[in-house]
Amino acid sequence: MGNDIQKVYDVIVVGAGPAGSTTAAFLGMAGHKVLLIDKYKFPRDKACGDAISGSLRTHEILGLTELVKKGPHAEVHRVIFSSPKGDVVDIPFQSTGYVCRRHVYDNLVFEEAKKHAETIEDFAVTEIIKEDGYIRGIKGKDNEGAEKEFRAKIVIGADGALSTVAKQTGCLDLDPEHTLTAIRCYYTGVSGMKDGIELHFVDEIIPGYFWIFPLENGLANVGLGMVVKDFQKKKWKMTDKMFEIIANNPLFKDRFKEAKLQEGTMKAWTLPVGSKRRKAHGNGFVLVGDAAGLIDAFTGEGISNAMTSGRLAAEWADKAMKANDFSESFLKQYEDAVWEDLGSKLKTSYNLQKLGRQKFLVNLVVGKASKSRQVNDTLRTMMDNVEHRKMLANPLFYLKLLFA
Ligand SMILES: Cc1cc2nc3c(=O)[nH]c(=O)nc-3n(C[C@H](O)[C@H](O)[C@H](O)COP(=O)(O)OP(=O)(O)OC[C@H]3O[C@@H](n4cnc5c(N)ncnc54)[C@H](O)[C@@H]3O)c2cc1C
Repeated sequence: MGNDIQKVYDVIVVGAGPAGSTTAAFLGMAGHKVLLIDKYKFPRDKACGDAISGSLRTHEILGLTELVKKGPHAEVHRVIFSSPKGDVVDIPFQSTGYVCRRHVYDNLVFEEAKKHAETIEDFAVTEIIKEDGYIRGIKGKDNEGAEKEFRAKIVIGADGALSTVAKQTGCLDLDPEHTLTAIRCYYTGVSGMKDGIELHFVDEIIPGYFWIFPLENGLANVGLGMVVKDFQKKKWKMTDKMFEIIANNPLFKDRFKEAKLQEGTMKAWTLPVGSKRRKAHGNGFVLVGDAAGLIDAFTGEGISNAMTSGRLAAEWADKAMKANDFSESFLKQYEDAVWEDLGSKLKTSYNLQKLGRQKFLVNLVVGKASKSRQVNDTLRTMMDNVEHRKMLANPLFYLKLLFA
């Protein structure tokens, strides 16, 4: 099996999830010659809660919201929280959110990218090509084991949480304090589902949570996620804990009485969260999405940030090509742009995650909001506005709550 040297591109994007497909679509639209590679054939599944909320800015630019609406999905209009004590609060969203299985959703984004980039599926990147201190391309194997290499002016690592590009450039950082671990599966027949996503701060797993997200045709995405450092101290398995919650917790045991776990849908995966700034650039490459560790530390949402970083990476790769400068110092501007855009939100979410460790505070906030219209309205404003959310880090807020 010889090493087959292939065409030269402007950009190679490794990984065709939301981050990679967004990057490839924007770069292709800007007129660049892009190669988008994924180790799987699409449509493919990805362990996820399937909630597409947060900033829909990049969706709108790519016209994805309309495409999501045409396919199987559920619209969500509220978030339902419960506390370890068992209080429940229902907070309406100001705008509509969507829950769409990644098998469906990622394929929509990939199809969009295909309009603007060359694509190769079923091709696993195994090695980056480094010459004169610069990343110049990638090597890998197709599904028949044939080795190939491709070259480009810049390589974008969009290959997820365990990114090969991040690993081989020395940027992979799965610090247990800044990484979550989560499982998800699909159920049918969960009763009491509303048009909302449910985040349940169950004792023993906070500041992680147990979730139930509605999907089409009575399907529900059910899962549990925790900070790795917290999980390492536990003596139980995540799946056992989830089944125990479903069977015994008074909030759920009746709701799951008739529910059926969909066989083969239980999956576990890693979530590098943006509570820590990781290096996401170097000579001839940048990292986007989970490869750059940009997931929200409080909610576990990463799709929206992955797409934002993809859009910014396309912008800076375009600038690098115009300046003919692919140096680390030039590409640092991409990373700065990401943190300029997402940094404040990521920091607030980390503060919320830390506050979530205080069980009495979670009980206090959810308990008061479940009884007081005024506190509920305050939380709704916080959900919609990151600046207002910062109030949650102020001790005065909790003092006022005590007397609300
Ligand atoms: C259990 C769980 C629940 C979650 N719930 C939510 C949620 O409800 N909402 C939300 O917004 N986020 C959620 N997230 C986070 C979200 O899944 C990620 O942030 C998002 O998928 C990031 O997109 P990405 O494109 O960076 O990476 P990915 O979606 O992981 O895509 C990476 C792509 O790279 C490909 N790839 C990997 N290695 C190679 C290689 N060597 N060669 C070629 N291709 C390769 C993969 O096949 C994959 O297609 C959840 C995560 C988990 C684990």
